[in-house]
Amino acid sequence: MGQLGTRPQNVRLKGGKQMELFDNHAHYNDEKFNEDRDEIINKIYESGVTKLICAGYSLESSQRALEIAKNYSFIYTTAGISPNDIPGHIQDEDLEGKTAEETKKLCTESIQIVDNQLEEIEKLAQNKKVVAIGEIGLDYHWNTLNKELQKQVFIKQIELANKLNLPIVIHTREAVMDTLDILKNIKPTIKPGVFHCCPLNVELVKEALKLGFYISFAGPVTFKNSKNAREISEMVPLDKMLIETDSPYLAPEPVRGTRNDSRNVKFIAEKIAEFKGIDTEEVALKTYENANRVFEI
Ligand SMILES: [Zn+2]
Repeated sequence: MGQLGTRPQNVRLKGGKQMELFDNHAHYNDEKFNEDRDEIINKIYESGVTKLICAGYSLESSQRALEIAKNYSFIYTTAGISPNDIPGHIQDEDLEGKTAEETKKLCTESIQIVDNQLEEIEKLAQNKKVVAIGEIGLDYHWNTLNKELQKQVFIKQIELANKLNLPIVIHTREAVMDTLDILKNIKPTIKPGVFHCCPLNVELVKEALKLGFYISFAGPVTFKNSKNAREISEMVPLDKMLIETDSPYLAPEPVRGTRNDSRNVKFIAEKIAEFKGIDTEEVALKTYENANRVFEI
């Protein structure tokens, strides 16, 4: 797999401008690409998305991401355990109705598995293609009974990133205060990292910028019902912005609801350009440079 026969042709956008794009967060390790992964990856490259990061979210998906990246010179990866993929029986449905003692036992078992997996992730991260620890963080949308465990797993992975001198890629959902508390007071990162799929939360973005983090914009910024999308796009300086698709999820307007792939990252660039009142070309160029800088590519 993974033969790239063609040089990228620059993407033509509205107004006939030509540019290359960097999708800094997508999941070609997802099973939704099992049928046509190589075909899609080749199309993406030919469309002008000439760099992309395939993000891991568990040990297994991080291993798959690295296998893909080894086959394509323009693909890089992250490795890490997301809050929704912590191993063991620690989902709300597992913990519902359990005593404090039973919950503690299940969380202790989980942490032991996590520790073993983080040793493997550390080995993966020796590969130069692994450019960050991620996606990691907190997600209280799906699970709230394991908050302490989520925090522990997040902190352990910030420690790993600091040890390896790598940036982190953060996933945070309905957990603004705890995420900021960890980054500010409990375990600051050595390097600035990225808030992936920027939650459109003004307070979070303000604080994230103060901490030196980059803000990555995804499909929701294009959704017509998105609150704060314009305000946040205006608020984030261009030199702190990144763009991503989070493929196969979160397809932007005007292709919302379809299986997403990195060719759609141009719609994010166009929307930001519209909000900021600048050329799409400038957004493409700056976000490309920013991604190279933060991930040291
Ligand atoms: Zn993701």
